Amino acid sequence: MATANGILNGLKVESFGFAQTPRSTPENRRYYKEVLEVLLEDGTITFNCVWMGCEFTRPTASGVWPHTRVHKNQAVKAPKYAAPAPSEIDVSGLTLGELVDRAQKATWYSTELDATQKKLAKVSRDLSEWKPRAQTAEKQLRAIRSAFAAAT
Ligand SMILES: [Zn+2]
Repeated sequence: MATANGILNGLKVESFGFAQTPRSTPENRRYYKEVLEVLLEDGTITFNCVWMGCEFTRPTASGVWPHTRVHKNQAVKAPKYAAPAPSEIDVSGLTLGELVDRAQKATWYSTELDATQKKLAKVSRDLSEWKPRAQTAEKQLRAIRSAFAAAT
């Protein structure tokens, strides 16, 4: 959503919440996870993509929903550059929106890092488990060969 500065379509945002889907009823309310219903200062209601910094709006919630797919592709194709050390990042000049955006990326990176470290730990474990087994097998093979040689 484009409310880092509280402005959407050039108007101030009065309030917003998740938009209801067409299947929503007063008894059983259903909401879009990625579409916001926004009340603007002039009293109009518009529907806005939930993603940080995105100003995509449509007069209906169902008009916004197909658009949210573009962000899913973005999330999968996260940039593959090395993140600078935390001490090198200067956040003092960032807006709240930019900070949230960076926090989301940082979460993605640490998740990836966790997964990679787990894989590495597993490979190391497997290696240390297999090395003694290989040595034992070699010893057995040698014993069998010399037993063979003695017998013939
Ligand atoms: Zn969007």
